[in-house]
Amino acid sequence: ERENHINLPQLENKLAPQLWQLLVKASQAAEQRGWHLYLVGGAVRDLLLSEAATSTLMITDIDLVVDGFHKSADVGAGVELAKALQEIYPQARLDIHGAFQTAALLWHKDPELDSLWVDIATARTEFYPYPAANPEVEASSIRQDLYRRDFTINALALRLTSPRAGELMDFFGGLLDLQAKQIRVLHANSFIEDPTRIFRGVRFAVRFGFQIEAQTARYINYAIHSGVYDRTSQENSRTPALQTRLKAELKHILEAPYWLSALQLLEQLGALKCIHHDLQLDGRLLRKLRLLERCLHKFAIQETLIPWQISLEVLIAHLDGKYREKVAKNLQLPDDSITRLKKLSQTTSEVIELLPNCQFPSQIVNLLRTYDLETLILIALEGSCLIRKQIWKYLTTWANIQPLLNGNDLKQLGYKPGPQYRKMLDDLLAATLDAVIQNREEAEGFLAQHYPR
Ligand code: ATP
Repeated sequence: ERENHINLPQLENKLAPQLWQLLVKASQAAEQRGWHLYLVGGAVRDLLLSEAATSTLMITDIDLVVDGFHKSADVGAGVELAKALQEIYPQARLDIHGAFQTAALLWHKDPELDSLWVDIATARTEFYPYPAANPEVEASSIRQDLYRRDFTINALALRLTSPRAGELMDFFGGLLDLQAKQIRVLHANSFIEDPTRIFRGVRFAVRFGFQIEAQTARYINYAIHSGVYDRTSQENSRTPALQTRLKAELKHILEAPYWLSALQLLEQLGALKCIHHDLQLDGRLLRKLRLLERCLHKFAIQETLIPWQISLEVLIAHLDGKYREKVAKNLQLPDDSITRLKKLSQTTSEVIELLPNCQFPSQIVNLLRTYDLETLILIALEGSCLIRKQIWKYLTTWANIQPLLNGNDLKQLGYKPGPQYRKMLDDLLAATLDAVIQNREEAEGFLAQHYPR
């Protein structure tokens, strides 16, 4: 363990005042009970990374570990501490996971704390009293907690309680790795234990501009060659939790500005196999993803479109048709997404076959309006340049064109309301799209000609 210390006033300067107050209150509550409280995980890492910078850290997610013995064997110290904090902050929501291990406090758009999520875990799992002032017992229990974590840079703990408040507990060389800009796992089995850590490692590497340390890269390689992807990519009800985490990591990556670089690194490491054995980021897929990126800028305003999800669908759509549905189900995508991928081979060939026969914009609109936006994007990425241009033109222009007259206008013109209104409006729309008519006057003339009263 390297001895290190962080100036707590320095930490105070980095955090929003309300957040700092929360940590002070949590520490007091722990101290009153004779417990130790640590800040762990991403917040410590980000704090150390930002040491040079002076700006306030935007921390919205805090992980705390409390090390203490609770007199009742049914409640963990973390849960009790969370309850104590909720009394001070009644507006926070308290979630308790597992019998006694962890609790989460959530401030959802609170005027003071905004959106904040505080996880409180219990380090000690043995339920016998120990001398509170025994530093050996104490070090071993926080060490144990940190040892379960993914990378050295995420396995640093900052002690918040006195004595020695501000002490940085660095059992695994996390500080050196931060300085050397390296992502390093804590032990050889880490990726076998949890293959989603491969995706986490890539995410941190690309996000911070770090390297995956050489031995860690070999462990990843070993894990992939020994077939961890069987556990992540097979339809397998025994590991739904693993699939849920994989999906969460994919979402994290695909939502980030660096998603394309992250996918490239995953490909280099052979880790895309965890989605499906055949998935490869080849030139064709790369091209589709780049096109998608451009198209997302255009369509991101559409509320229904979830950019990370369509990116994931593009990855899945790159697989042979017979695997798509299974992979989508496996990753627990929503039903509409599963259906879309299941039918994609068929819809793609329909559109690719019929679209070139359409001569007028109105024919294109008639054909394409039966498909949802996501399907059209997937088909456009698959199709030729011509197909893509027509789909883009449809999505950006033609789909938004309205007939020059509406139902009210028809009524005022003296047409009797009825089912034929639909047909009249459709005809008007087609004539508008095809530039047969350009204004209301021409529209009325068009009606007079085709629908004499
Ligand atoms: P971010 O800034 O992206 O939220 P984070 O490090 O806070 O980064 P979380 O996903 O919130 O990421 O995880 C919090 C902490 O929990 C991590 O720092 C890590 O110590 C631990 N952790 C999360 N997921 C895993 C995992 N799959 N295996 C081991 N430890 C994990």
